Amino acid sequence: MGPPTVVNNVETLAAVVPIVNEGGEEYAKLGIGKSTGTKLISAGGHINKPGVYEIDLSLPAEEFLMSDEYCGGISGGRPLKAVVPGGSSVPIIPGELFLKTAKGEPRLMSYESLSDGGFASGSMLGSGGFYAYNDTACIVRSTWNHTRFYHHESCGQCSPCREGTGWMEKVLHRIEHGAGHMEDIDLLWDIQRKIEGNTICPFGDAAWPVASAIRHFRDEFEFHVKYPTKVKDPDHFAKEPFRKAVKMYA
Ligand code: SF4
Repeated sequence: MGPPTVVNNVETLAAVVPIVNEGGEEYAKLGIGKSTGTKLISAGGHINKPGVYEIDLSLPAEEFLMSDEYCGGISGGRPLKAVVPGGSSVPIIPGELFLKTAKGEPRLMSYESLSDGGFASGSMLGSGGFYAYNDTACIVRSTWNHTRFYHHESCGQCSPCREGTGWMEKVLHRIEHGAGHMEDIDLLWDIQRKIEGNTICPFGDAAWPVASAIRHFRDEFEFHVKYPTKVKDPDHFAKEPFRKAVKMYA
């Protein structure tokens, strides 16, 4: 009580200064299409320069990921495997679909460009919580970790989210730890479908990381089921990246 309170996020407050100083029209000249102005991207994962970057929304995705001005490239000089461009609830996409759309056009860091292709081949800019994975990452492990978070955070008010996030966590845990069955992959798909669109609040987006991981990396889930002793080592793909492991064990 006493002093006035502003409840807003840092990004919004930071944008107020140039809008007031230069006017809304000038500010809206930054960016591209409907993605006007700038955005703060919180970048992490397998990149050389994790940090928070303010970008013009017309910035090419490749420049954001690879240039020294922003993420500085993939850590260890390893190949890019996948990207989550906009926070843990947005779809994960293979690295090549982050750099170029399914039509082969260079991807931009704009809302429209990152969602080009819908969920089949695109993702979302979302909150700007960006992270990249190199080829030593395990997509099943990462998906399980995300789902653990969503299960923990579910308020429990509606049953598809309350029960579904817990079921997904359990199924992902057993696949990741070498106790999964092939039917579990379809079971996961079925559970996430029943969460999406059937919840009171947008927390049901917890389904998207699971759906996109199966859509783009199903072979990795199948590998976990086929080679349970291999994946019991928590560093499995850190020692042998997935593509190499497939060649060795297939
Ligand atoms: S969807 Fe929202 S309201 Fe429903 S249980 Fe999950 S967090 Fe609660």
